[in-house]
Amino acid sequence: MPEGHTIHRLAQDYATAFLGTSPHVTSPQGKFSDAAALLTGSELTHTEAHGKHLFLGFRDADWIHIHLGLFGKVNFGKVNAGDAPAPPPTDTVRLRLANSTAYVDLRGPTTCALITHPEKQAIHDRLGPDPLRADADPHQAYRRISRSRTTIAALLMDQKVIAGVGNVYRAEVLFRHRIDPYRAGKDITPTQWDAIWADLVDLMHEGVRNNRIDTVRPEHTPEAMGRPPRVDDHGGEVYVYRRATLPCHICGGEIRTADLAARNLFWCPNCQTP
Ligand SMILES: [Zn+2]
Repeated sequence: MPEGHTIHRLAQDYATAFLGTSPHVTSPQGKFSDAAALLTGSELTHTEAHGKHLFLGFRDADWIHIHLGLFGKVNFGKVNAGDAPAPPPTDTVRLRLANSTAYVDLRGPTTCALITHPEKQAIHDRLGPDPLRADADPHQAYRRISRSRTTIAALLMDQKVIAGVGNVYRAEVLFRHRIDPYRAGKDITPTQWDAIWADLVDLMHEGVRNNRIDTVRPEHTPEAMGRPPRVDDHGGEVYVYRRATLPCHICGGEIRTADLAARNLFWCPNCQTP
């Protein structure tokens, strides 16, 4: 499942290609046809992300709510003046936006729905603060964390507590702060939480810029350590994510993995002490 930085990047990419234009909106697959017919030719006035939820606003009134889930994919294409028009969409495309310079196809999302402003607000209200949003309040997350006996690793994955953090960022940020992933939320101090939050803000903004997750500090890059770069389809240099049984970049000990909150957790038992 994509993490929050991917969805914020998509919000930027939709804006770059379509904001202020009135794209042709279609649903070749058919499941979004009625809504597409209502929206087509209307101006795209907003794009926004909150955690793993993407919102496309039309004519300051209607919103498309998109959640990619596990299988959703978005593909952008350019259309150059004088060239052939955008290629015809395949019948797996749930939502296509197209204007004179670009098109974008959405396939396989968990959610693609036309919603009203109050319905959109209800989605924001049930999500925790998102480190990538300017309006996020980290204390809102800490109020829940500091009262919870649940592990911090599970709390970081709970979108009601904090929105946008997925399996990679949770493992990496806990490593960077040397916090045992099994520590209970109530045992995380305010100082530790402030540091975790500030780090997530920085790391996730970098993730939006680079469109990938890098979490190693300058002294632990392949160049600085004279080690080969990581080979993984997620790209990016990380400390623990998917590095089970490999040596820790800091202590040389073995990185471990276990199931936590239905996802594989990765950590270094030497560096991350209880
Ligand atoms: Zn270590």
